[in-house]
Amino acid sequence: MSTTEKHHFQAEIQQLLDIVIHSLYTDKEIFVRELISNAADACEKLRFIQASGTAVYQPEIPPAIAITTTDNTITFADTGIGMTHGELVENLGTIAHSGTKAFLKQLAEEKKPDAKLIGQFGVGFYSAFMAASRVTVSSRSYLSDEQGWQWTSEGAGGYDLEPAVDLPRGTKITLQLKEEAKEFAKPEMLEGIIKRYSNFVQFPIELNGKRLNTVQAIWARGKNEIKDEEYNEFYQYIGHDQENPLYRLHFTADAPLAIQALLFVPARNLETMGMSRLESDVHLYCRKVLIQSRAKGLLPDWLRFLKGVVDSEDLPLNISRETMQDTALMRKLNQVLTGRFLKFLDEQAEKEPAAYDKFYEQYNRFLKEGVVTDFTHKQALGKLLRYESSTLAKGARTSFADYLKRMGGEQKEIYYLLAANREAAESSPYFEVFQARKLEVLFLYDPWDEFVMEHLHEVETKPLRSAEKAELDLADAAPKEGALSEEAAQALAKWLKETLGDRVADVRASKRLVGSPAVILESDKFMTSTMRRIMKSMKREGDAAAPVKHDLEINPAHPIMQRLDQTRQRDAALAAKVAEQVLDNARVAAGLLEDPRAMLNRLNELLEQVLVNK
Ligand code: ADP
Ligand code: MG
Repeated sequence: MSTTEKHHFQAEIQQLLDIVIHSLYTDKEIFVRELISNAADACEKLRFIQASGTAVYQPEIPPAIAITTTDNTITFADTGIGMTHGELVENLGTIAHSGTKAFLKQLAEEKKPDAKLIGQFGVGFYSAFMAASRVTVSSRSYLSDEQGWQWTSEGAGGYDLEPAVDLPRGTKITLQLKEEAKEFAKPEMLEGIIKRYSNFVQFPIELNGKRLNTVQAIWARGKNEIKDEEYNEFYQYIGHDQENPLYRLHFTADAPLAIQALLFVPARNLETMGMSRLESDVHLYCRKVLIQSRAKGLLPDWLRFLKGVVDSEDLPLNISRETMQDTALMRKLNQVLTGRFLKFLDEQAEKEPAAYDKFYEQYNRFLKEGVVTDFTHKQALGKLLRYESSTLAKGARTSFADYLKRMGGEQKEIYYLLAANREAAESSPYFEVFQARKLEVLFLYDPWDEFVMEHLHEVETKPLRSAEKAELDLADAAPKEGALSEEAAQALAKWLKETLGDRVADVRASKRLVGSPAVILESDKFMTSTMRRIMKSMKREGDAAAPVKHDLEINPAHPIMQRLDQTRQRDAALAAKVAEQVLDNARVAAGLLEDPRAMLNRLNELLEQVLVNK
C-alpha cells in the first residue's frame, strides 16, 4: 500500500511558482543564497532552543550546513530544527506569506521581473524552482517524538508527502537541475556563488567536504579592522539585497546596556514598491546566539525599514519570545538604539547633505510617521525634516535650524504653506503678504505635513504657523491708488455677505492681499484648508455635510473689487454673478472647490457679457 499523500499548492503559491518556473531567467543563482539562508535560519533556531535548555533530538550533532553536488544535482543539508509533517505542509505550499501577494504584484508591474527580490518578500524557498525541475525535501524535526518526512515537487501540479525512515535531525533539500542550470553543479562555480552570498553565515558551510567559510560575527569585531566590502557583503546576506546599503551604523555601548549593533538602511524603500508594510528586519542576539529574528519591540515602528543585528549580553537566554517584547529591558534597548540612530542621522545630514538628501527622498515618510506617533522622539525627528522654502531655489531643502538662522529678530513664528507644488505655493494668495514683507515661508507638498506640523507644534520655542493662519497684514504700507476707502470697502463687504448668504460666514476687507482679489480663510481657528480637504476625502457618501465656515477677505485695492463696487449700484444681477464667481475662484485657490463644473454655466454667461460690452 502506498503511503504517499498528494497535496495541492495554495492558489497564490501555484501562481508564484508558475512565474518562477517560466518567466524568471536572470539571476538564477539567487536560489543558492536563499536555500543557505533558510538552512542558517534553521540552525539559528536550533541553537536558541538548545541554549534555553530544551532537549532536542540528536543533541550531539552541532548545527552546520553541508552542500554536495553530482553532475546534475545539488543538495543542501542542514542539521537545524527540521520540519514536522504539519510544518512542511504549512511552510512549503499552504500558507501564503504576507509577501506572496506583494511579490506577485511587483513581478506583474516591472517590465523586467526582478528575481533578486524574492527573498525580501519572504518566499525565498520557491527560488529553488528557477534551477530545478524537481525539488526533494527530506526533513526530521528536532522534537524527539516526531518522524521523518519527504516532500517532493516538480512545481506544477502540487507536491507529494511520504514518511521517510532513519533521517538525522534537520533538513536536506535536493535539486534535480534543469538542463540549462546544470552548470550550477560545477563545484568551482558553486563555490564562488556561496562565498559571494554566504560568507557571513554563522555556521560552518562545507562544499563536497571542503570547508568554505570562517564563522565570525562581524558585529562583534572592531570597526577599524572591517573593510567596506565586508560590511556590504554582510548586509547583502542578511538583507537579501543585491545593492549596497545607503547607510550603515556600527556601534558598541557599555552603559546603560552592553550593546553591539550593526544597522543598515537599504538603498530602496520597499514600502513604496508594493510591499504593503515592512516588518522590522533587525535580529536580536545574545553573545552571538540568535534570540529572536525580526525582533518585535526592539525598535519603534517607524524605524521598520532598518536591517541588521543587535547583540546584547544583558539579555536572559531563557526568556520566551512572546514576553520578551514587553520587558523593561527591551524598552531600554529600544530607547538606546533609537536615540543613537537619530543622532547618527543628524550627523550624516550635517556631514554629507547630498547623501542625506537621497535618504530623505526614500524615507521621509517614516520620519514624519515618527513625529506624529512617537512623543519621545518627536523633537529629535523634527530636526531631521527638510522642506523647500520661499527663499531657496526650487528643489533645495532647508532644515528648521537653518530657517531659524535666517530669521530676523522681530519674527516670532516659523511660517509654512501647504500647496500642491512650488508653482501653486508661489502663486497662492496666502503667500502674498509674506512675499511683500520678505518673510521666509516653508513650502510643504506632502498632505501628511499638515499633521506633522500640528504634532511638532514648535521648534526651539518658535511656534510653527500656517501661512493661512498667520496674523499678518500690510496695514502700514502706503494705500494703493484707486483703492476703495475704508467705508466703501466695508459697505462692499456687507453687500457681499448679503448676496452670498450662507455660503460664507463673514466677509471683510483684507489687509494682507496684494495681487489677488479675494481669499478664503477658515473661521475655525484650528482648521486649515488642507485639513478641511483631508476631512472631506475621509467623509463617506451620505454623511451629513459639516457646516462650512469660511470667511471671505476681499482686496480693496484690486480692480475687480473697485469695479464690483460700481457695478452693484448699476447692474445688481451682473454684480451678484461676479460676486459668486469671486467666491468660487477663491475656493479654487484654496483647493476647496468640489465640482468646478458647477461654475461653468456662470462663467460662460460672464464671458458672453464681457464680449457684448466690447
Ligand atoms: P522565509 O525564509 O522568508 O520565511 P522561505 O520561502 O525562504 O521564506 O521559507 C519558508 C519557510 O519554510 C521558512 O520560514 C521555514 O519555516 C521553512 N523552511 C525553509 N527551509 C527550511 C530548512 N532548511 N529548515 C527548516 N525550515 C525551513
Ligand atoms: Mg528564506
